[in-house]
Amino acid sequence: MSIEALVKEFSAVAANPHGQLKAYKAAGKKCIGVMPYYAPEELVYAAGMMPFGMWGSNKKNIAKAKEYCATFYCTIAQLDLEMLLDGTCDLLDGVITPTICDTLRPMSQNIRVAMSEKLPCIFLAHPQFRRPAFGLKFCRDQYDHVKTELEKIRGSEIKDEEIRNAIKVYNKSRAARREFIKLANVHCDVIDPIQRSAVLKASYFMLKDEYTEKLEALNTELKALPAAKWNGVKVVTSGIIVDNPVLLKVFKDNNVAIAADDVAHESRMIRVDADETGDPMDALCKQFADQDYDVLLYDEESEKNRRGEYVANLVKESGAQGLVLFMQQFCDPEEMEFPYLKKALDAAGIPFIKLGVDQQMRDFGQAATAIQAFADVLSAQ
Ligand code: SF4
Repeated sequence: MSIEALVKEFSAVAANPHGQLKAYKAAGKKCIGVMPYYAPEELVYAAGMMPFGMWGSNKKNIAKAKEYCATFYCTIAQLDLEMLLDGTCDLLDGVITPTICDTLRPMSQNIRVAMSEKLPCIFLAHPQFRRPAFGLKFCRDQYDHVKTELEKIRGSEIKDEEIRNAIKVYNKSRAARREFIKLANVHCDVIDPIQRSAVLKASYFMLKDEYTEKLEALNTELKALPAAKWNGVKVVTSGIIVDNPVLLKVFKDNNVAIAADDVAHESRMIRVDADETGDPMDALCKQFADQDYDVLLYDEESEKNRRGEYVANLVKESGAQGLVLFMQQFCDPEEMEFPYLKKALDAAGIPFIKLGVDQQMRDFGQAATAIQAFADVLSAQ
């Protein structure tokens, strides 16, 4: 299949999650909503069910969720609840609600109160200290709870062999996405920022084996092409989610390519693989313990500003000239970390801009002006 045809398929999936949900249900699959961040999706896959990513929506408005949420909740969390309340997610057989930030913690209870008569809400609390033995034990207890709840929905035990197989499928998928991200940089004349986002976003609405097969085919086609002779600029994107095609069109229109990303919805979720041998539940806990360089995760060595340096290095190593930070409104973790990121970028002499965004934004005029001006500054360097 051609690059164009493959990208078109991914774009259609990314634009129509509900259509995907309906199709999987029609094929007899049970579907589980998976909210951000770091839920062990492998367990859902191992149970023979379809994990459905829930990262808000660019198309919906918050109405019903207002009854449950304080106005200072981020739009991602509010829109997840909105989609549960307004019937968009009625076909789901359950939802996993991780609680990694101060918004998701109360939100998990809002969802439980609002939805528990309609569908099982599977609570998941990751450990703050994820690396010591007691953190791993805590994580294991939590993951055992998620597994038990999924077994209730499935009606039978999830076997170790099934989890081991899921880990292999997910490792392969993460590797293919990491490779795609690199190829999209090398071939930024072929894969524009809108298409890059759509290819990565589609992974949340397809079974990972089906998705990976298509993505590997796309990677093979891209590898056969000569590297782009790019005469625009390149940036690294950072933030929680950068998937709005209208916003990404601003990049495309101004010849701004995305060299790499430090975006939670994209690279942050696929950096670390799980061990394919040994106890598979322990392997998933260890995988979470090995996650790093994320504002959402506790860093015992935070005084060293390792994350800031990691992001600064990412800009340099990817060949980008600057960084565009998309700051989700009311996202405390990202806002509190910003001074440290700024310090590392300033120290490394990396130009950046910070743009406030949320999923209710429909007018990107201000962002477009800022990106255009930033592109001009970078291209003049
Ligand atoms: S955007 Fe920020 S506040 Fe909202 S769920 Fe994510 S980490 Fe929490």
